[in-house]
Amino acid sequence: MEGKEIRQRFLDYFRRKDHVILPSAPLIPAGDPSLLWTAAGMVPFKPYFTGAAKPEFRRVATCQKCLRTQDIESVGKTARHLTFFEMLGNFSFGDYFKAEAIAMAWEFVTKELGLDIDRLWFSVFEDDEEAFELWCKMGVKPERIVRLGRDTNFWEIGVGPCGPCSEIYYDFGPAFACGPDCHVGCDCDRYLEIWNLVFIQYYRDEKGNYLPLESKGIDTGMGLERVATVLQGVTSPFATDLFRDIVAVAEQELHLPASDRKIKVVADHVRAVTFGAAEGVLPSNEGRGYVIRRLLRRALLYGVLAGREEPFLGRVAAAVCDKMGEVYPELVAHREHILRVIRAEEERFLTTLSQGMELLNRNIEQVLARGGKVLPGEEAFRLYDTYGFPLELTEEICAEKGLAVDKEGFKREMEAQRERARRARETVEYLGERERFYRELREEKGDIDFVGYELLNTKSR
Ligand code: ATP
Ligand code: MG
Ligand code: MG
Ligand code: MG
Repeated sequence: MEGKEIRQRFLDYFRRKDHVILPSAPLIPAGDPSLLWTAAGMVPFKPYFTGAAKPEFRRVATCQKCLRTQDIESVGKTARHLTFFEMLGNFSFGDYFKAEAIAMAWEFVTKELGLDIDRLWFSVFEDDEEAFELWCKMGVKPERIVRLGRDTNFWEIGVGPCGPCSEIYYDFGPAFACGPDCHVGCDCDRYLEIWNLVFIQYYRDEKGNYLPLESKGIDTGMGLERVATVLQGVTSPFATDLFRDIVAVAEQELHLPASDRKIKVVADHVRAVTFGAAEGVLPSNEGRGYVIRRLLRRALLYGVLAGREEPFLGRVAAAVCDKMGEVYPELVAHREHILRVIRAEEERFLTTLSQGMELLNRNIEQVLARGGKVLPGEEAFRLYDTYGFPLELTEEICAEKGLAVDKEGFKREMEAQRERARRARETVEYLGERERFYRELREEKGDIDFVGYELLNTKSR
């Protein structure tokens, strides 16, 4: 089943279950400056769960574009993490609750998607007997339901509404296990979390008490790329039709097979940058712009690692626009702008990059020559500060040569630089003093004529 059909089936199914289908909200959360990106389907609905706003509809389903910076370094390492992905979700704001949410999730997964029941595992929050019983009622064998703890299976954001989660996992089989201790919820690639159901049933007060909510809520999230991975019989989202054309361009550009991590990083990061740029985010040194810059530079650096030293990300971004423009028209509307933004940043970065690479290679050789195992933190910092090398990239390049990076030393250098910046600000304040003096002088004496050129000319003649 193609990605497009999965998306459609999800929305059609929940429409039949009386949900209002809303379009994806922007990646830039509206009215929430504390959040950089929409990282889950529930983000646009947060005010309904906290009670800050009244929902227009009680049942809603969406396919939401999401961006998660916390997963940047996992891309291509785990098989399941992307920075940009689409989250399918159904929501109830004080309408249906646990029994209906579980019944619909079960029906959708087993009937609509036709997933093999023998491959499915379920998790519930440790003492959520209700969820346990409900899955059993669907026909799930009790031994297929695991009880997981607070870190994964309880959703809360400080004071406010919160509640237990229940997840659906797909088992890729023992061949994918990390070892004898591999288990559902394990970080390796055997059990893939495809759907998370949050049962918002408590209110956590200032004292940490969990008070039952009168108006309960449901928030679910299912990763489209993950479901496509399972349904298309592949083992990574990069092998699904959602990525096929994008990966193909990256393969052509880097002359590497799709299985290479560099291809995955490039395909993923360019997708995120394309969507970010479509919403007007420009590469910069802070906030959202910094995330976009970091993703772009990482993608470019992985290209450089593959021996590619001129701009190429624009062609990958064009493939993203072509592939996803039908569902996300902003990519069509802003295509030229997106490609321009990417090109400009690539050119800017490439000019400093080759010098940085040279320096790093020299540093690595020096460390190896003296039989060392660690690149000094000052060197890693110099690369970061002068050439824009993210620490993790320096680490990766070093790892290829069997070297670690002194992260503590890097942090110390970072601190020292902050201290210098602080002092520089004080200097600016001092300069400010001088400027004030001259301004006052001018106010007192009025404008003066500058005669330096004439006088100098006269003299030189
Ligand atoms: P994981 O444990 O695999 O990191 P998660 O628990 O962080 O996933 P949730 O926050 O529960 O994920 O998000 C709901 C769903 O969104 C997940 O079940 C998964 O299908 C999907 N999802 C989450 N993070 C990613 C990601 N980085 N890339 C692709 N899909 C994701
Ligand atoms: Mg996660
Ligand atoms: Mg999880
Ligand atoms: Mg989860």
